[in-house]
Amino acid sequence: MKKIQKLLPLILAIILLIIIILKEPINTIPKSIEKEVEIALQHFPELNGIPIEFKFKKNIKKSVMQAQPTWSGLLRPRSKRSYKILISEKFKISGEEFKTLDVPEDVLIGWIGHELGHVMDYQERGNLNLIGFGIRYVLLKEFVKKAERAADSFAVSRGMSEYILKTKRFILNHSEIDETYKAHIKQYYLSPDEIMEMVKEQDSTKNSDFL
Ligand SMILES: [Zn+2]
Repeated sequence: MKKIQKLLPLILAIILLIIIILKEPINTIPKSIEKEVEIALQHFPELNGIPIEFKFKKNIKKSVMQAQPTWSGLLRPRSKRSYKILISEKFKISGEEFKTLDVPEDVLIGWIGHELGHVMDYQERGNLNLIGFGIRYVLLKEFVKKAERAADSFAVSRGMSEYILKTKRFILNHSEIDETYKAHIKQYYLSPDEIMEMVKEQDSTKNSDFL
C-alpha cells in the first residue's frame, strides 16, 4: 500500500501528460476581441489551420501580449504544433492602470499582428530550436531584440504596416505611458522610420516585379 502511495504522484503526472498530449487544440478567441483577431489573422494565410488560443490573463509582467508554443505542441511534429497568445487584461501607464480592451481598435489589431509575427517565426523553427529560443530569449538582450524585430518584420511583410505603425505611435506618442516602457520599445522593436523604410522597399520590389 505504501508503495502505491509513493508512486501515486508519478502515476498522476503520467496521466496528466497523456491528457495534455492527446487533447486536440483548437482555435479559441474571446468574443470581445474576435473582430480584431480575425482582421489580423487574414494577413497570415500560412497560419490557417494552426490552432491558436487567445487568452486573457489578469496581468502579464512587463508586456501586454505574449505568444508562446504550447507544451503539447512541442511534443509533436512541427505541423501539429499549437500556440497560445496571452493578453494582459490591463497594463500600467505611469502608475495608472489601463484596460487593453480600451485601446483603439487598429492599435489592438497591430498588437495582435505583432504576436502572430512571433508565431510565424516559431513555425520556421524546429522543436529543439524553439526550446533554445525560449532560453536565449530569457538570457540574451541581443536575442530579444532580434526576435522582436523579426515579429515586427513578419507583420509588416504581410501588409500590416499601417496597424503596426499605429501601435508604435500609440505607445511612443502617449505622454502618459511610462518612459521605461517607451525606452524598451525603442531599444528592442522596429522604429516607425524603419517600418516606413521596409514598406518602401517592399513597394519597390513589387513594382519591379511588374516590369
Ligand atoms: Zn513581441
